[in-house]
This record gives sequence, structure tokens and C-alpha cells, in this order.
Amino acid sequence: MNKEIMIATSNAHKVEEFKQILEPMGYQVKCLLDLEETIDIVEDGTTFEANALIKSRALYNHLGIEVISDDSGICINHFNGEPGVYSARWLGEDTSYVDKNNYVLTQLKDASDRGAQYVCSIAHISSEGVESVYTAKCEGSIAHEALGVNGFGYDPIFYNDEYKTTLANVSKECKNKISHRSKAIQLMLKGMK
Ligand code: IMP
Repeated sequence: MNKEIMIATSNAHKVEEFKQILEPMGYQVKCLLDLEETIDIVEDGTTFEANALIKSRALYNHLGIEVISDDSGICINHFNGEPGVYSARWLGEDTSYVDKNNYVLTQLKDASDRGAQYVCSIAHISSEGVESVYTAKCEGSIAHEALGVNGFGYDPIFYNDEYKTTLANVSKECKNKISHRSKAIQLMLKGMK
């Protein structure tokens, strides 16, 4: 099997994670970066599910082929679940993740509740236009200091109990075993059968 699947994202890190999981299963993963034209997508939903559907619908309406997209983010208990769907834009689109992560560490310096979760919603639209949305979570907590160089975004401060370190400090294979994105992909693959 060599089935092409189009992902409505230009986030190279996400594409990489989708490729790591889907390519061994025979999928050829393409994304917005592979298109010649630019598709403007306004992500103005207030839930992960809504934003994932917005992205998939925009791409499906444009190309008319099977598409998927993910919307994901980190929800931090101390901030009442924020930044959530605003994780990429939080504290300013151009603010580096070193600065974002340092801000979180400073704000949570004396926090009693360091709980956090990654959430990922994947919206799949079949070639016939049938829509399905799958959501999965990865539970964790905010580490006391940033650690590791792997992964992306909030991974240096996202502590995982099983590995007893941050997700930036484990291999991509280890992250893919437990991540919100890989769990949502597994749900999608089951749903597509
Ligand atoms: P989206 O492109 O609007 O879905 O934004 C997702 C944002 O959530 C990313 O840019 C990161 O800030 C954060 N995020 C989602 N998944 C991960 C992950 O696996 N590791 C680190 N940060 C993540």
C-alpha cells in the first residue's frame, strides 16, 4: 500500500511526527508546504475540535481529496487550562519557546498544582466528504526546569511520569509511544478501517 494523505499544516515539527508514525504504515504524507499555492486558513475556533475541522475543511474544499489536520496545544492547570487552543500564539506569535517556557517556569515557581496536559484533535475528511474528529490527551506536569533538545514547543518543560523526564529529553520513538498526537492518529486509523 502507498496511500497519499494530505495534512492541513505547515508546522514542520508536526509533519515530522505524522511521518514517523504514518510512513511505516505505508502512507505518503504531504502537507501545505508541498502545495504550490498558499491557502489562507483562519483558525478562529475556540476548541481543538473546531479548529481541526476548520483546517481540514479549508483544504478539502480546495483540493477535494482525503485530508487530515490536527489542532493541538498544552493546557496548564495553574492557568485554568490556558493557553489551550492559543498555545502557538500565546504571549505573542513571535515570542520564542525559550521565552514562553521560561515564563511558565517563573509563574509556576511556587505553584502547588503543576499538572498539565497536551491535547490533540485530528479532523479527517474522506474523499467522499465524510467528516470525523478524534481527540486524545497526554497527561503530564510542568517540570521545575527546562530540559532536553528534542521535540518542539513546550516539550522542554513537559514532564512525563513514565519516563521521569521531559518530552524534549526522550527519543522521538519514546515521545511517539505516549504523545497526544500519536494517540489521536491511532484513534483515526481505527476509525478509518
Ligand atoms: P496549532 O498549530 O495551532 O495546532 O498549535 C499547536 C501548538 O501547541 C504548537 O505550536 C505548540 O505550541 C503546542 N504543541 C502542540 N503539540 C505539541 C507537542 O507535541 N510538543 C510541544 N508543543 C506542542
